[in-house]
Amino acid sequence: MTPIRRQYLNLKHSYPDAILLFRLGDFYEAFDDDARLAARELEITLTARSMGKDTKVPMAGVPAHALESYLARLIRKGHKVAICEQLSDPATSRGLVARDVVRVVTPGTVLEPALLEQKANNYLAAVVEAALPDGTLGAGLAYVDITTGEFAVTQLEGDRLALELERIAPAEVLVPRSQEAPQWAGHGPATNGQQAGFPVTPVDDADFALNAARQALLDYYQVLSLEGFGCAGLPLAVRAAGAIVAYLGRTQRAGRAQLAALNTYSTASYMTLDAQTRRNLELFQAGRAEGRQLSLLATLDLTGTPMGARLLRRWLGQPLLDLAALERRLDAVGCFFDDAFRRTEARSLLGQVPDLERILARIQAGTVTPRELLALQAGLTAAGRLAERLSDDAGPLAWLCRELAPVPQVAGLIEQAIAPEPGGPVGEGTVIREGFSPELDALKTASRDARRFIAGLETRERERTGIKSLKVGYNQVFGYYIEVSKANLGQVPPDYIRRQTLTGGERYIVAELKEYESLVLNARERVDELERSLYRQVCAQMGQSAPALSRLAGAVAQADVFAALAEVAVRHGYVRPRLDLSSTIAIKNGRHPVVERVLPPGSYVPNDVCLSNDDARLIVLTGPNMAGKSTFIRQAAIITLMAQVGSFVPASEAAIGLVDRIFTRVGLQDDLTTGQSTFMVEMVETAAILNQATPRSLVILDEIGRGTSTYDGLSIARAVIEHLHNHPRLGCKTLFATHYHELTEAAATLPGVRNFSVAVAEEEGRVVFLHRIVPGGADRSYGVHVAQLAGLPRAVVNRAWEVLAELEQRPQAAGITGGTGGRRRRAGAAAAQLTLFSAAPGGERLLEAVLALDVANLTPLEAINKLYQLQEQARQRDGTT
Ligand code: ADP
Repeated sequence: MTPIRRQYLNLKHSYPDAILLFRLGDFYEAFDDDARLAARELEITLTARSMGKDTKVPMAGVPAHALESYLARLIRKGHKVAICEQLSDPATSRGLVARDVVRVVTPGTVLEPALLEQKANNYLAAVVEAALPDGTLGAGLAYVDITTGEFAVTQLEGDRLALELERIAPAEVLVPRSQEAPQWAGHGPATNGQQAGFPVTPVDDADFALNAARQALLDYYQVLSLEGFGCAGLPLAVRAAGAIVAYLGRTQRAGRAQLAALNTYSTASYMTLDAQTRRNLELFQAGRAEGRQLSLLATLDLTGTPMGARLLRRWLGQPLLDLAALERRLDAVGCFFDDAFRRTEARSLLGQVPDLERILARIQAGTVTPRELLALQAGLTAAGRLAERLSDDAGPLAWLCRELAPVPQVAGLIEQAIAPEPGGPVGEGTVIREGFSPELDALKTASRDARRFIAGLETRERERTGIKSLKVGYNQVFGYYIEVSKANLGQVPPDYIRRQTLTGGERYIVAELKEYESLVLNARERVDELERSLYRQVCAQMGQSAPALSRLAGAVAQADVFAALAEVAVRHGYVRPRLDLSSTIAIKNGRHPVVERVLPPGSYVPNDVCLSNDDARLIVLTGPNMAGKSTFIRQAAIITLMAQVGSFVPASEAAIGLVDRIFTRVGLQDDLTTGQSTFMVEMVETAAILNQATPRSLVILDEIGRGTSTYDGLSIARAVIEHLHNHPRLGCKTLFATHYHELTEAAATLPGVRNFSVAVAEEEGRVVFLHRIVPGGADRSYGVHVAQLAGLPRAVVNRAWEVLAELEQRPQAAGITGGTGGRRRRAGAAAAQLTLFSAAPGGERLLEAVLALDVANLTPLEAINKLYQLQEQARQRDGTT
C-alpha cells in the first residue's frame, strides 16, 4: 500500500457517510465506492489508479477549478461531500503532502453561491422531541442559515412541530439517531412543487444531550449562561440549538460559521399558517389555475436587495400578532408611501447594495473575492447615503436610521487595501492596492525591474556579440537562456556558459541573467505569499466588525422591504389598514392583489366584506361556477394576511381585528403526493380546522363536501356550518363558498350566518358574470348557462333547458332543506335530477361517471367530449342508439 493510499483510508474512515473528494494536484479524486457513485451521479469517467503493488483502485475525478458545479450536482442529489485539501505546498514539501478534510458540505451547510437561491434562505434545522414535565409531548426546534448567520430556536408543543417545520422549509434536518423516523421526514427532492418531507440527517444522541448541548452553546458564544439568549429555561430548545452548533463544528472544520446571537422565539407570537393555507392562498408559489402565474410574494416583491427579498419572504410566512410591532412597520411603510422623492431615492440607493449578509459570511469563511469586497464597499457607501437621506425624519424612521449606522472602519479598510481594479486572483500582485504595504510594493518593483532587465537583454546582447538572430527565451527546465543558431556559434563570447545542445544551435546562460532570473522568480513567490497573507489579514480585520455589519444588513433589509411595500402600494392603489384587537374584519372595495394584476387594468370588480364574531360571523356565498366566489373569499384572507405583515392592502378602506390563524380548505383538489383520495383529504383537513380553530381565527372554506355524492356533501357542509357557528370554542369568522344554493337555508336558523351571492345578469338567455357580491343567496345554479358559455353545442344546451324545465315542474318532496316553497322546488329539482340518473337500470353507472368528473379542472373541449360520452351511454341505456 502506498503512503497516499494509507492517508486516504485514514481520512475516509472518519467520513463514512460522505463522498470524500481527495485533492491530488489539480484534481479532486474519489476512490473505491465513492468513485463508482461519483462517476454515476456526475457522468464522469471511472478510471483506476495504482496504489501499491498489485493494488489498483477505482478512481473518478473532477478538475479543482470546476469543483463548485460538480458539488452542486452531488448536493442536489442528496449526497454529503467531504472536501479534503492539500495543506502543504506539493512543490516545496518533502515526502507526503499533508492533507485533511476542511469541510463537509451537506444540503444545510452549503456556502457556494451556485448552490444557493439568492432570494430565499437555506436553513439547517435540528429537532428533538421529548415528554415535558407535565406529561405532554414537547419539541425543541432550532434552525440556522450559515450563509447569513441567522440562528433561531423555539420550544413548542409536539403537534405544532410539523407546521413550524413547513414554514421554515429546511434543506436538512438533524435528529437524534435513536429518535424514530418522524412523519415529516422525507427523502429526495420535492415532487410536483410540493415538499414531500425534509431530508433528515441522524446524528449521535450525545449531541442532543442537555449538558453537552448547553456546553456547546456556552463555548461557542464564550458566555457563562444562556440567560441572555432567553432559552436557559427551555431544555428542548437548548438541546436542539446545541446539536446544531456541534454539527457545524464537525462540518465547517476550517472556519466555523459565524452566527448571530441565538434568537429564542415563540410560535405564539406569529399567526399560524399551515401548508394548505400557504398553498391555497398561493403565497409563495402560483397554483395551476389559469391566470395565476404569480404568487403573492412575486406580486409584492419589489425589493432591490437579496436581503430584502429574503426578509419579505420570511415576513409573509410569519404574519405578526403584535399590534405595536405592526404599527411600527406600517408607520415605516407610510413614510415611504407619503414621500415619492424619498421612496425613489431610497430604492435607487438600495439597488446599489449587494448581498451584505452572504458577503459577510464569506468574509468570515475566508472565501470572499476581491470583487465582492469592492461591491461591499460600494454598498456601504450607498447604505450610508441612505441613512443620511432618512435621518432628516425624526419620526417613524428614526429607529431604522440608528440601525443603519455605517461601518466606516470596513469601508475605509477596503478603500486602503484593495485595488480598485483587481487584475486577477489573489496572489498575482494585482489585488492589494499600491501604497498599502511598502514591502509588497518593493517586491513588485524589484520584480518589475528584473523583468525589464531580462526583456532588454536580447537587444543588448545582439549589439554586444553582433549576432542578429540571438534570442532570449524561457522554459520550465532551464529557466531563462540565450539561444544562438549553429551558423553563429563562432561569435559566442567567452562568458557564455553552455547549457543545452539543439539540432539547430546551442543554449547558454550568463551569470547576470541567472541573478535576475532568481530575483524574478523569488519575487513572484514572495508576492504570492505576501499578497495572500495581507488579504487574509484584511478579511480577519473586517471580520471583527461582523456584528456591526450584520446589524447594518438587517436594517438595510428592513428599509428595503418598507420601501418596496410602499412602492407596490403606490403603484397599485393600496391603503394603510386600520388594525385593532377587535373581532371585526371590515373591508371596503377589496381586491385580490394577484388576480387584479392578471386582468386588464380597471376590469377587476372590487367588493366589500364585513365579518364580526358578535354579528355576521359566517358568510355563505353562493353563485355559479366561475362567478368569482373563490377569488372573493381568498381576497379577504389575503388582505388580512397582508395587514398582519405590515403591508398596505388592496382596498379603499380596511379595518382588521387581528386574527391568530388563517385556515383555508378548498374542495376538489387531488393530493397526488400523499396518495389519499380527494374526499378523504378534504375531510381530514376539515377536521383539522374544526379541531384547531379558535374564535380569533379566520376560516375560508371553498366548496367543501363536493368530493362525494350530492346528499352526503350537502349534509356534511351543513353540519360543518352549524358546528363552526355554534360551538363555543369556535364561532370564528368564516367565509363559505359553495355552489349548493340549498345551503342558504342555514341563515334562517343560525343568527350569525349571512347569505351573499355573486351577481349575474341574464342577457338574451346568456349569463353574464358581474363579479359583484350582493346580499342574499343565489336561487339557482346557472349550470346550464355556464355550460352554454363553455361552448356546448346548441342542441345539447337546448335539450338541457327542456330537461330542466321538466324537472322543475315535477313535484318532489325529497328535499333535505326546509323553508319556503320556491326553495323547496329547487331542492326537489335537485333530487329529481338524481332520480333521473338512478331510476332506470344502468343509471347508477351514469351517475357514478358524472360524480367522478373533476368539473373545475375540465377544459371546455374535455367537457364537450365527456358530455358526448355520457349522452352515448344514456342512449345505449335508453336503447335509442
Ligand atoms: P368561482 O370560485 O366562483 O368558480 P373564481 O373565483 O375562480 O370563480 O373566478 C373565476 C374568474 O373570474 C377568475 O379567474 C377571474 O378571472 C374572474 N374574477 C373573479 N373575481 C373577479 C372580480 N372581482 N372582478 C373581475 N374578475 C373576477
